[in-house]
Amino acid sequence: PSDKPDIFETRESAVRSYCRSWPATFARSQGAKQWDEDGNEYLDFFSGAGALNYGHNNPAVMGPLVEYLQSGAVLHSMDMKTPAKREFLQTFQDLILKPRGLDYSVMFPGPTGTNTVEAALKLARKVTGRQHMLSFTNAFHGMTLGSLSVTGNSMKREGAGIPLTNSSKIPYDDYFDGEMPDFLWLEKVLADSGSGVDKPAAVIVETVQGEGGLRAARAEWLRALSELCKKHDILLIVDDVQAGCGRTGSFFSFEEAGIEPDIVCLSKSISGSGLPMALTLFRPELDVWEPGEHNGTFRGNNPAFVTATAAIKTFWADNEFQNQLADTIAELHQRLDSIVEKAEGASIRGRGLLAGLHFEDTEVAEKVAAYAFENGLLLETSGPEDEVIKIMPALTIDSRDLQAGLDIIEAGVLKFAP
Ligand code: PMP
Repeated sequence: PSDKPDIFETRESAVRSYCRSWPATFARSQGAKQWDEDGNEYLDFFSGAGALNYGHNNPAVMGPLVEYLQSGAVLHSMDMKTPAKREFLQTFQDLILKPRGLDYSVMFPGPTGTNTVEAALKLARKVTGRQHMLSFTNAFHGMTLGSLSVTGNSMKREGAGIPLTNSSKIPYDDYFDGEMPDFLWLEKVLADSGSGVDKPAAVIVETVQGEGGLRAARAEWLRALSELCKKHDILLIVDDVQAGCGRTGSFFSFEEAGIEPDIVCLSKSISGSGLPMALTLFRPELDVWEPGEHNGTFRGNNPAFVTATAAIKTFWADNEFQNQLADTIAELHQRLDSIVEKAEGASIRGRGLLAGLHFEDTEVAEKVAAYAFENGLLLETSGPEDEVIKIMPALTIDSRDLQAGLDIIEAGVLKFAP
């Protein structure tokens, strides 16, 4: 320990949250674990908010990455063609799109999830000539003015200073249990040219609200939404930034519902390594961009293409990983069932390994997360009141680490919601 003032405290901007909830300096990571500078070990049920689906430093991606870095190949290439980019595009086409019968053009919109959402919204405006967007309450889509305008979280929206226009929020909360809601009211609004509601260019939806409280849309609801969009000539954008790349059990989170969105946003775990990368997929006939209309300096991150290719070849070339993942998902949900049985006012949220525990007493989740950190488990909270603990281990986690993390969660839950 030095007697110098802590540079994080004196100089880093106040725009921080995780370093407040996790007051440690992380120095090493492997698989589902991280270690701080003092050598304390933490199980990671946060996984870079979904950017580390294959765990930290997975050898399957690290080997090719180290080899690439040492080979003298191109690291940064803007939009230029490189073998690494070709290999990624071919692999994505052959192992992800083709086996699923999907036909999408691929665009590199910039390095982040926010970039792919922004590109999707822009494309929808350009294709339809409309500017209004429909999104859902508690949705999270990013931090730029466009992606923020379709985000529900008012705290984040207030960061824009003044109200954001051009979007409406549809309530998302009732679409999970009980009777299938109908869309009649929405249809009426869309069909009534005198209603004063502008016809939207697109509807943007997360199949599971990662930041908004782990609410998962039912497959039949997604199908109805998709039908409604088709009927009214509105584009459907699925934001799979957090729910995609295997999180819910299949590569795309919408596969279970059997829908084909017009536009799909991917980022976070698409690089397979935590390196920044994003993709915007869209039906080929929607490709109306003029050259140069949407560009960016960091669209040619070749190390990310290399790890993305390695991850897809390792985990998605056949069904082995997905079958293993189904077992991990079943194991997690079995244990969550048993925890909520013992706890007061707790219920399970989410789908697959994008799961959560919701507590009626809104203070419980933050207490459980703090307890988890003290006991060596990184756990984030989610939802408008941070009333949900978010359970998001690496998809590659083994049973021992999974159960060890769940032991800590169970102890915390029974302590604060017995
Ligand atoms: N969409 C969703 C669904 C997200 O979860 C996130 C990130 N939490 C984003 C977009 C924005 O991604 P990024 O932080 O990489 O800009």
